[in-house]
This record gives sequence, C-alpha cells and structure tokens, in this order.
Amino acid sequence: MKLVDSFGRHIYYLRISVTDRCNLRCIYCMPEEGVPWIPHDEVLSYEEMTRIVKVASQMGFSKVRLTGGEPLVRAGLPNFVRMLLQIDGIEEISLTTNGTLLKKYALELKQAGLQRVNISLDTLRADRYRYITRRGELQDVLDGIEAAHDVGLSPKINVVVMKGINDDEVIDLARQTYKGWHVRFIELMPFTSAAEYVPAGELQQRIELQGALEPCSLNGNGPAEYYRLLGATGTVGFIAPVSKPICLFCNRMRLTSDGQIRSCLLSDEGVDLRGPLRNGASVQEVTQLILRAVAFKPESHPLLESGSLKAHMSCIGG
Ligand code: SAM
Ligand code: SF4
Repeated sequence: MKLVDSFGRHIYYLRISVTDRCNLRCIYCMPEEGVPWIPHDEVLSYEEMTRIVKVASQMGFSKVRLTGGEPLVRAGLPNFVRMLLQIDGIEEISLTTNGTLLKKYALELKQAGLQRVNISLDTLRADRYRYITRRGELQDVLDGIEAAHDVGLSPKINVVVMKGINDDEVIDLARQTYKGWHVRFIELMPFTSAAEYVPAGELQQRIELQGALEPCSLNGNGPAEYYRLLGATGTVGFIAPVSKPICLFCNRMRLTSDGQIRSCLLSDEGVDLRGPLRNGASVQEVTQLILRAVAFKPESHPLLESGSLKAHMSCIGG
C-alpha cells in the first residue's frame, strides 16, 4: 500500500520518540531545569509502540527512526529494535542519539539489526560541549562515534550551528570529513532564545573558501544536501529548515512517547493513539486515527511567519 497525503507526498517514514527524558540539557532544546517529564504510566510501552508500527507498516510505512529525548536512556532499546524488525514491511531502523551512551550500546544495537545512527555533536571543544549541553563530556561522544563506526553503524554527525557560539568551528568540523566523518550542518530552529541561526548558504560559502565542495548523494539524501571536499572520504551536508524549508518533500510522521501521532515537527496538531489503544481499539480504528493525523499534515511549516515555537524539541523528537 502507498500512503499519499493531501498534497501528493508519499508518507512512509515514522520517527518514534521512545522517551522524552534526556541526560543532557542542550541550550537550544531544553531549559536548564529540564521540562516536566511525562509520567511513566503515560509513556507507551515498547509493546504498544510495536502494535502501532504493525498497523503503520500495513499502511505503507517502511522506515523507522528512533529518537527522543535521548533514546539510549530508555532501557531495552536493542530489544525494541528486534521487535520492530520482525514486523513485515519494516525495512530500515535508524537512531538519532546524543552519543554519550553509544559506546556501551553500539555493538548490541548493531547485532539487533539497527542499520544507521545519527549522532549530535556541535563542537570539538570539551569546555564548549559542556556549555552547550550544560552537563555532557565530549570524550563520551567521541568514544560513541568511534564505537558506532567500528561496528558498522555508518554514523552521521549532526551539528546545530549557533551564531557566536559554535559557528567558528564550521571549518574544523568540515575538515573531519577527511578522516571519513559525515558531517551535517543544521540551521538552529527557534525553540529557545539560545542564539541566532546561521543560514546554511552562508556556512557553505565559508567552507568553500577552504576548498571546493562537489555535490554528491548519501543514502537518498532525505532533507539534506550533500557535498564532498576534494580528497575527503566523508561528506558535508546542509539541512536548512529555516532558510529553505523542505516541506514539499516531507515523507514523515512522528509518534511521541506518550502516544500522540503528529504530522509535523512544528505543528501542535496531534491525534491520541494511547487512549484508544488501551481501550482495545481494533486495527481498523488505529488505521483511521493515523489517517486522520496524516490529513492534518500541513503543506509547509509556520516557522518563518511566527519566528518562535512553543513546544520543546525533546518532547517531539527532533
Ligand atoms: N537526544 C538525541 C539527540 O540529541 O540527537 C535525539 C533527540 S534531539 C531532539 C534530535 C535532534 O534535534 C538533534 O540532532 C538535535 O541537535 C536537534 N535539535 C534539537 N533542538 C534543535 C533546534 N532548536 N534547532 C535545530 N535542531 C535541534
Ligand atoms: Fe537531549 Fe537531544 Fe535535546 Fe540535547 S538535543 S537536550 S541531547 S534531546
């Protein structure tokens, strides 16, 4: 089955936030004191999430990305990967993580069948990493990247660029592609007033002063545009949700850890699946609820008009 939304977009990618909790407090994502956590009994169990993915797979979803909060703070993630891969029609499971716990779990995740991992790292400087994350240790992430690479999880590094905070490291980070890293620069979205964003086009120009960027592709590209510096084995990618929204090609839906299905990262519209599921909803009923959420999928997001966002990224899953 092929699921197509009201604007003709093929929808087949589900991002699941397995938890809203996190071991870091990145300045662009959460306030220092954290956010009120969703009570445990309101968080979907892995079995409940698996039931939803089974229905979604029958509707045409084939790719799942696990995110959070920090997905690796929730116990049993490798086993959840196994549960998902047993579902007919699910072809790929990937993970977005801050990488701090990845050294411990990389091998187990790979053995469970995880295909790919995106690791968030905004700086190569330990003091700056502590400032941005308010508590993290850079070395833990570097160890996580190495472990992911060693077990074949093909890590991509996501860098959120903030004016005056880490934009002076763009060249250093791009140079890591000479040693095989895939580095993607992401425009800061205004979830908090942490800093101003730097347009991706400007970042590209700065990197091009150091060396030509040849366009290339990486795993079908998704929301990013990819380039290669001459002689580099890794790639430089740009994701521009602010200056160049890619809504036209958006193929995703999101499931929050408390069981809301949402059609857009930047929209508050969600459809509750947890209540109906716990009240014994049938496959047909869950299908209808997912279709209702797909029907809410906006043509484009309101970021540029409103200039700021209410929700916390950690709750919706990035
Ligand atoms: N904790 C995991 C992590 O940090 O990778 C997964 C969840 S996090 C919300 C997912 C992604 O969203 C991360 O790459 C993070 O850098 C990005 N993100 C969070 N807040 C953002 C913002 N205000 N603008 C752009 N990206 C943001
Ligand atoms: Fe946690 Fe990821 Fe948000 Fe940082 S970006 S606070 S690691 S959820």
